[in-house]
Amino acid sequence: MAKGNNSEYKKMIDKQYKDLMKHCQLHMEEIEKNLPEPKEDLHELLKERGFSRRDFVKWTSAMTAALMLPPIFRPMVAKAAESFSRLPVVWLHFAECTGCSEAFLRSSYPNVDDILLETISLEYHETLMAASGYQAEENLEKAVKDFSGKFICVIEGGLPRGLNGKYLTLGPKGKTGIQVAREVTSKAAAVVCIGSCSAFGNIQSAKPNPTDAVGISKAIGISTVNIAGCPPNSVNFTGTLLHYLMFGSLPALDGLGRPVWAYGKRIHDYCERRPHYDASEFVEEWGDKGALKGWCLYKVGCKGPYTYANCGKVRFNDGISWPIMAGHGCIGCTEPGFWDTMAPLEKPLDEKTYGGGERTVDNIGIALTGAAVAGVAAHAIASGIRHKGDK
Ligand code: SF4
Repeated sequence: MAKGNNSEYKKMIDKQYKDLMKHCQLHMEEIEKNLPEPKEDLHELLKERGFSRRDFVKWTSAMTAALMLPPIFRPMVAKAAESFSRLPVVWLHFAECTGCSEAFLRSSYPNVDDILLETISLEYHETLMAASGYQAEENLEKAVKDFSGKFICVIEGGLPRGLNGKYLTLGPKGKTGIQVAREVTSKAAAVVCIGSCSAFGNIQSAKPNPTDAVGISKAIGISTVNIAGCPPNSVNFTGTLLHYLMFGSLPALDGLGRPVWAYGKRIHDYCERRPHYDASEFVEEWGDKGALKGWCLYKVGCKGPYTYANCGKVRFNDGISWPIMAGHGCIGCTEPGFWDTMAPLEKPLDEKTYGGGERTVDNIGIALTGAAVAGVAAHAIASGIRHKGDK
């Protein structure tokens, strides 16, 4: 329908949202019947940690907007958050540093998302559970059997394929990571890869990659939701699980399996230093006058123009800051193979190395200062090409 016919268009959108709301309500009624009772009272936990009811309401508004839903969905987001501990989760660790779990669990300034993650019904998590050896393996088998087809399998870490998977063996029976991944994911309702290691292989798969490590999707040929980042933001993980609780389906994904609501735009699109980029005001070397004035970090290696993520929008540590705000450029950690493709870390990429997507900064700068309107159009076209490719 043409947007020109405003009232018809509005009616159509309203109807779509009403249908979506109905679907959401029906699904949440199903959850009431089918999932275990909540293990934690979210509001008690929030109160203990000093969060008021008002903080929770503010968080539901922010999360509803982040998920690209209209405000009428706020009560459903709140209900899904209250049901968070009903969703059984089996959390597997493969080739990684446990940094993603650590980032979520050890936040000095936990936000509502971090508290929400504390309520998650972890049926199995190697780092957190007390059990080990045969007892741990029994726990895993029991969780997979008891919640078959209902649990979310969260995976942290990539899978080495070399030596028939034997670079990574787990548990008392010495199963390979590949075996464990196949057994568990085949019974899961959905597989969520947390961090760039499980999503794309990350540092384990950087050159020369002697163990032939790759991400889960590539290793065992399944579709995964990829919450990319090293580490990722807890908001992107909780938002994805909330979407699943509300609609019984995973959010729309880009061509790399990343939720579009969180990874649909570039770091460069949300960056507070962007006006300096557009005005050709760059930090030329660390500690110069541009650095003191908070100018753009492109020339000292910022990979924001090539990187899709919402770090600048949601920030870290309860929204206090994020790397570019703290003075270091983006290292591109949500993109596949960033250790190889985004190097050198503190120098800009040249077009030949990266294969294009943006002009070099000097060309862009000259063009923009000379013809701002033409520059904005060029940027819009560049963004459009990337988005088209994603879909
Ligand atoms: S190049 Fe980096 S610092 Fe500069 S505007 Fe883009 S994202 Fe921000």
